[in-house]
Amino acid sequence: MTENDQAPLRVIAIDGPAGSGKSTVARAVAERVGLPYLDTGAMYRSVAFAALRGGVDPEDGEVVGNLAESLSIDVSPEGTVTVDGVDATIEIRGPEVTRAVSVVAANPRVRGEMRRRQREWAEVRGGGVMEGRDIGSVVFPDAALKVYLDAAPEVRAARRSKEVTDLDYETVAADLARRDALDQGREHDPLREADGAFVVDTSDLSIDDIVDVILERLG
Ligand code: C5P
Repeated sequence: MTENDQAPLRVIAIDGPAGSGKSTVARAVAERVGLPYLDTGAMYRSVAFAALRGGVDPEDGEVVGNLAESLSIDVSPEGTVTVDGVDATIEIRGPEVTRAVSVVAANPRVRGEMRRRQREWAEVRGGGVMEGRDIGSVVFPDAALKVYLDAAPEVRAARRSKEVTDLDYETVAADLARRDALDQGREHDPLREADGAFVVDTSDLSIDDIVDVILERLG
């Protein structure tokens, strides 16, 4: 190997809508294959958190773009999230951030900055299991394996409402449908199945089953 040769990155991309099982599955796959794990949704949530905290309108593309480019975001493998030195682990999962995040994530400057950071994250580590909406389609289209997890909307809403105990099922289902529409309908890097993605309908599968089919596919 010459000095300029770089070992190929080993990236496993796991994309899909909210409630498809991505986070739990991606964590388990990372553990089984011994790769680091990154929740890229936590990065977009961190930008939304910083905007709300700073009294910035999430729709203000210019100010939110500047904010994203200057923000320090640390997503630890254990799931702790620190935004400009503030522990945001709990708040980024709360209803305010969840409602604002898709608007922030539609901002092309925010996407460009997060994409740059995500690529750098994998390059420094030689790869990883990365979970999000556009990892296989945009961030790492040459990933070793691209997985797209999906499930029926009512199954996804039921899973989410079990996690979010302070909101009723109808509210969770409506928020999820709104977020799906924004994430799939946005102009820049919309949520879609990446070319060549291994598509898994998780509606009737347990987490262990999903992890097994992914590992089988990985070979
Ligand atoms: O995965 P999670 O539900 O935490 O993601 C929150 C939001 O972040 C998504 O609804 C989407 O708007 C945005 N996102 C994105 N691209 C990613 C990951 C998340 O646009 N790679």
